[in-house]
Amino acid sequence: MSSKPLGVYVHFPWCLAKCPYCDFFSLAAERSAIPHRAYADAMLRELERRAAELDGHTLTSVFFGGGTPSLWEPKELGRVLAAIRAAFPGDAVEVTAECNPSSFDERRAAELLDAGVNRVSLGVQGLERERLGFLGRLHDAEGALGAVRTALRAGFARVSADLIFGVAGESPEVARREALAIAELGPTHLSAYALTIEPGTRFGALAKAGKLPLLEEELVARSFEVVGRALEDAGFEQYEISNFARERHYAAHNLAIWRGQPYLGLGTGAWGTVPRAGALLRYRNAPAPERYLTASATAPLWEISELVSDAEAVDAETALRERLMLGLRLAEGVDLARAERETGAAGLTHEREKTAERLVRAGRLVREGDTLRIPKSAWLFADGVVRELL
Ligand code: SF4
Repeated sequence: MSSKPLGVYVHFPWCLAKCPYCDFFSLAAERSAIPHRAYADAMLRELERRAAELDGHTLTSVFFGGGTPSLWEPKELGRVLAAIRAAFPGDAVEVTAECNPSSFDERRAAELLDAGVNRVSLGVQGLERERLGFLGRLHDAEGALGAVRTALRAGFARVSADLIFGVAGESPEVARREALAIAELGPTHLSAYALTIEPGTRFGALAKAGKLPLLEEELVARSFEVVGRALEDAGFEQYEISNFARERHYAAHNLAIWRGQPYLGLGTGAWGTVPRAGALLRYRNAPAPERYLTASATAPLWEISELVSDAEAVDAETALRERLMLGLRLAEGVDLARAERETGAAGLTHEREKTAERLVRAGRLVREGDTLRIPKSAWLFADGVVRELL
């Protein structure tokens, strides 16, 4: 068997409503208006053609992201998953589906398990009615906690929950209590992100007009610290700046990408990075469902076409910079020797070496043999450290 590992990311773009902070490619739609079957059919066509050109890879993980994949008829999601499993060899593959509490219940849990999903990631986001309303979420606290309980009872091997902190009006103490309330239910993994205001979103427009209430930066930073500490005290390991796992139940798909592993992207709006002709190619399928559903079976796959809206070779230096950018968010840091070997670029150029030495002296970076990492005490400044280094 080949040892070339490959993850597969599947994008399902539809949601019941568009959250005002969301800058993912997602579209609000009624359940009945979603082309469940046609979308799976189009994806099978895409998969067959892409897989034929990716011989010799071993499947390591599948991630159904969105959008809201728990809205997809599980039968159709299952057809796509079965085809992915048939296209690439691979045992013990982690299969994650992102689920929203508003479209996840016992029946959906059982159907997803049947389809072959073994990990769910639930968009809890918060546990206060007012804040959930502000974030445009369709569930309430009980719905969110109930979804986590349902997933655990249903028997998924791994259950993760997403939490957003740093929202106007939310004290660090409330953020801490919410993280603990979810942790106490027993999920294997938690992601906790500070709310970010992205251009192109409703919140982005409101912020630009000065009409969006925001939490002071100091309180956001404090929330980050107290949430991290509380989850570590509760037995979770903060293995990435925003991600926590119990007993090494790391998010296999994301961790592989943070470590620089290639992945195939399927579906409208999906990004993928795959080895092509001795280099890495990054592509994006056009974020336009109609185009995706009707693309001809001969549309070029790896260059801009009816199907593809972006395609570019990732040069060695860019690949190396990405390794540093993503790897420095991990507690384990970046293995520079491996990054150099796999990308073909110099890890610490003369200039980066000088910056790294300065950052080490300032306590913002640690160098141990070939490993470069940001110590937890400096995670609040991680973005700045990476910016300086690169
Ligand atoms: S449910 Fe998720 S993907 Fe859909 S709009 Fe909200 S944040 Fe975005």
